[in-house]
Amino acid sequence: MKINGLFTGEQVISFEIFPPKPDFPLDTVFATLEELKGLNPAFISVTYGAGGSSSARSIEIVDKVKNHYGVEAVAHLTCVGATPDTIDTVLDRLQALGVENILALRGDPPAGDDGFVPPENGFAYAKDLIRHVKGRDCFSIAAAAYPEGHLECRDVDRDIEYLQQKVEQGVDLLITQLFFDNALFYAFMEKIRAKGIACPVSAGIMPVLNASQVKRITSLCGAGIPAKLQRLMEKYGAVPADMEKAGIEYASEQIVDLLAHKVNGVHFYTMNKARQTKEIMGNIAGALRK
Ligand code: FAD
Repeated sequence: MKINGLFTGEQVISFEIFPPKPDFPLDTVFATLEELKGLNPAFISVTYGAGGSSSARSIEIVDKVKNHYGVEAVAHLTCVGATPDTIDTVLDRLQALGVENILALRGDPPAGDDGFVPPENGFAYAKDLIRHVKGRDCFSIAAAAYPEGHLECRDVDRDIEYLQQKVEQGVDLLITQLFFDNALFYAFMEKIRAKGIACPVSAGIMPVLNASQVKRITSLCGAGIPAKLQRLMEKYGAVPADMEKAGIEYASEQIVDLLAHKVNGVHFYTMNKARQTKEIMGNIAGALRK
């Protein structure tokens, strides 16, 4: 099923998983998927690392999500190191597997590179990839959105202008970067709706399961840490079990508040952690039923 058919009124809960590092067997993520499937997500998206084995692993997992576990799958795809021909090879493969949904991204520069350099004959922005995928007329397309502005464009209004250009290429769903302050998300939603961006938006939520991991991730994606979360990290950061408990509570409260504000969807960055995802789903069940 295409994701554009999922957002018909009910609030949509979805998950993101990533391929394990090359030296870890794929079975580790399949065990996670087994448990995530039981939580009935509307779809599971699989991240994409450009190049060789990494992209092959992403496709293998997408295949498993869709064809073995019977959960709707969204394949992430990036412009990094890709030409239209190599992109088409991946899209052909996904189409042959029956995958109907693509999250089209520019991608981050490979570790160690200063900034994103479009490959020769490749795409400079996600909007170019979206136009290309749209041209095949067989995929529903999601794209990324940044409530606090993208790291390379901290002027939120300008970033929203670029977002609008991206949406105009034929985007069915926006999924946001993780954020910890719902007020920023609500302000962003007001701005994009005022601009006429009407497609559904899923709010990206990642529970803080350990303090150092969050510092690393926020430095990479630019999400701010509000004072309340900062205090929790200072209080519990040194004791992993306590930090995890506090992080799960914080994320659960964030989601309950988002659902009460009639968000279209919530996309969990599960970090491949089934038990913690299950716990959060249990905490928010009452809010989902309303
Ligand atoms: P774009 O929309 O192309 O934006 C990139 C930058 O260019 C922004 O700063 C934007 O403001 C600017 N820009 C856009 N249009 C213009 C224009 N016309 N003129 C000038 N500037 C412009 N990365 C991965 O490698 N693999 C993944 O699987 C992955 N999954 C993700 C999932 C989600 C939900 C999100 C939010 C991000 C994900 N990322 C992933 C990270 C993403 O690739 C990076 O954030 C990347 O730096 C930007 O991608 P984009 O698609 O938003 O790019």
